[in-house]
Amino acid sequence: MRPGLKVYNSLSKEKEIFEPLNAPYVGMYVCGPTVYSNVHLGNVRTFMSFDVIYRYLKHLDFKVRYVRNITDVGHLQGDEDDGEDKISKRAKLENLEPMEIVQKYTNDFHDVMAMFNILPPDIEPSATGHIIEQIEMTRTLLEKGLAYEVDGSVYFDVEAYNKTNHYGKLSGRKLEDLISNTRELDGQDEKRNPVDFALWKKATKGHLMRWPSPWGDGFPGWHLECSVMSTKYLGANFDIHGGGMDLKFPHHECEIAQNHGATDEEGAKYWLHTNMLTVNGQKMSKSLGNSFLPSELIAGSHELLDKPYSPMTVRFFMLQSHYSSTLDFSNEALTAAQKGYTKLANGLKLIGELSYTEDGAEKNEKAIKQIEQICNNCYFAMNDDFNTALTIGHLFNLLKKINSIHTGNLKYSEIGEEVFDKMISTFKTFTVNVLGLVEEERINSKSVLNILTDLYKEAKDAKDYDKVDEIRAKLKDLGLVLKDMKTKVDWAYEE
Ligand code: AMP
Ligand code: ZN
Repeated sequence: MRPGLKVYNSLSKEKEIFEPLNAPYVGMYVCGPTVYSNVHLGNVRTFMSFDVIYRYLKHLDFKVRYVRNITDVGHLQGDEDDGEDKISKRAKLENLEPMEIVQKYTNDFHDVMAMFNILPPDIEPSATGHIIEQIEMTRTLLEKGLAYEVDGSVYFDVEAYNKTNHYGKLSGRKLEDLISNTRELDGQDEKRNPVDFALWKKATKGHLMRWPSPWGDGFPGWHLECSVMSTKYLGANFDIHGGGMDLKFPHHECEIAQNHGATDEEGAKYWLHTNMLTVNGQKMSKSLGNSFLPSELIAGSHELLDKPYSPMTVRFFMLQSHYSSTLDFSNEALTAAQKGYTKLANGLKLIGELSYTEDGAEKNEKAIKQIEQICNNCYFAMNDDFNTALTIGHLFNLLKKINSIHTGNLKYSEIGEEVFDKMISTFKTFTVNVLGLVEEERINSKSVLNILTDLYKEAKDAKDYDKVDEIRAKLKDLGLVLKDMKTKVDWAYEE
């Protein structure tokens, strides 16, 4: 079933037939988290969308190399070149080493990914692990006349690049408009043009994260790491580059310019962008203060939540919309998702209990045709730019047939063993392997517990004793106790 997959390419702005550069190998790069805070549910939506894409490509027998980076330096506050490094800022606030911040929030990120059954990538490189390569690419861009140095910092020269290329082709912008819409240089600014962006920034006195370079001590600009790590692990030309819609400009636009400028190759062939998780129509974001954390969701402790929701309910909720549509958070939608997920989970339980038995009934060609059609429809839906929403609808139709067999309204022999097996395996494969929806108890409960333990510790530090008691009571119901240790909080089974 490999042929026929179509993907919406943000670069051509068209749905294109997916033709990897070097089939069956597929290279996929997705911008990972900036590890200076806990990931929120909006971030989860983006990583979950690419998880399904990864899973489906693998299901189609492509040999996927999935690279998802960790941004652990260079992402500045306000995303401007003169902001403060997000990780350094957090390190000062929490009185920790920057690398402690990085480790703490990388651990949290991994726990959250496991909790939502999001598969780890094949390579998870970090920006600080690739300083040498970033210096190298900066040097190449300087040699090619596409960058310039000012007082220990190096900037990408957008106008020079745009002479023979189109800076703005991904996000549909024109350089002239960009220049007239940006603020004037204020005299203090070292850049030749306000649209230029930093490849390398000089570290001022007291700047915590710094490395030696040919231009003095400094640190890399945010956009550079993704250009360097994607080309290092996937080559100058590779298949898929993904990220949230909000990264299209300037991050991905700058990446394209750097890749093309440094290698003369095109970089990614297909650009895929996920749309935003919103709250009352507004993008969920830390800076807007409307984000909530996975831990608050499973504990039901956020003011916007009527009750707790399980990770699989949330996964179902997210996959019920297409990745390129916005998805608005609401209790009603989550409650409906809980019902929908439970139906699928019962289906999974049921197929484990059914086994084909000849019962002598006559063949029912109509039922056979219907089942085969539904099985094909699952592929058609996923082949149509990974339409998970439609796929779920088909799985419900398949479940109706499975239930008919279970209740005896449809006899085993009416459809025959081969069709029965196909029906069961299609249901299982698409629900579990492709959509990643599993029976809840199969989820790694330890990662869920780690997250709850962190929430407990935060409540305790904030002296929110009502919340502390509430979390203790909820865990007690599950037969677990929390133990306050000197430096951390542990959990144990209640004896
Ligand atoms: P960050 O750690 O902020 O760089 O974000 C990690 C990923 O989450 C990026 O691909 C963002 O585009 C994505 N993202 C951020 N906010 C949302 C949201 N509200 N909905 C969906 N994806 C988001
Ligand atoms: Zn990136």
